[in-house]
Amino acid sequence: MGVADLASLILWGAVGACVGSFVNVVAYRLPLGISLVYPASRCPSCHSALGPTENVPILGWLLLRGRCKSCQAPISARYPLIEALMALLFMGVALWMQNSLGNVGTSSGWGAVIGYSLWIAALVSLALVDWDTMELPDEITRPFVALGVLFHTLVPLLATDDGNQASIGLMQSLWGIVFALGLFDVLSYGSEKLLGKEGMGGGDAKLAAMLGAWLGWQGLLVALAVGFLSGALGGVLAMTLKWIKQGEVFPFGPFLVFGGIVSLFAQDVLVSSYLNLIGW
Ligand SMILES: [Zn+2]
Repeated sequence: MGVADLASLILWGAVGACVGSFVNVVAYRLPLGISLVYPASRCPSCHSALGPTENVPILGWLLLRGRCKSCQAPISARYPLIEALMALLFMGVALWMQNSLGNVGTSSGWGAVIGYSLWIAALVSLALVDWDTMELPDEITRPFVALGVLFHTLVPLLATDDGNQASIGLMQSLWGIVFALGLFDVLSYGSEKLLGKEGMGGGDAKLAAMLGAWLGWQGLLVALAVGFLSGALGGVLAMTLKWIKQGEVFPFGPFLVFGGIVSLFAQDVLVSSYLNLIGW
């Protein structure tokens, strides 16, 4: 079976929607300190449990027309949107792996698809939690720094062909972590000395380390460039539209996550067009 023939692609998309459902649970429950697996999903207003058909990703929300069956309280459209987004991202990882590995259904190819997909699921969870609470929980960032190192150790070992491009390799991963922690240390030291206040939280540094562990230091650079640029644009936009006041802090995590996902899929294109632009 190829990494991205149509049947496996659709199947992997369905897995992505189910993982998206879990991402919603994590984003809702982790900040509240509630168990992620028990009890089963229930209405946030009247606490009545969801039936088996209502638990189906995307379709369940559509069947209920966005309202709880028992109390008619509206259920946020964010739930099905995140499920759809995760389905697309999971399929995106499989297609991207197909492009960089060629049509080979190798074990390292599938291992890489699974690894990167779960990494993205963790990133989207972090973006949602940061958006809601301005916190980036260590419970997600710390293990995924270690998992990045493990991933880039195991995938090259599992690779059967010598042209393995599914992994950046262990050294790149380690340099990504060192670079992220070093850079954010300098940034926070600098903003403390110059502005007299803490610029970015320690959570942002651990999120950057999680990006570096999976993308390597070069991929991390692209992720940071996209993250800072989109964060600046988002900040200006939010101030123009008066969503936030000048000087008000807003979560930076979602922009770093956006940069990380863009970097995974498009770092080669971005780097070569940038080098073209500056005339290299
Ligand atoms: Zn209800």
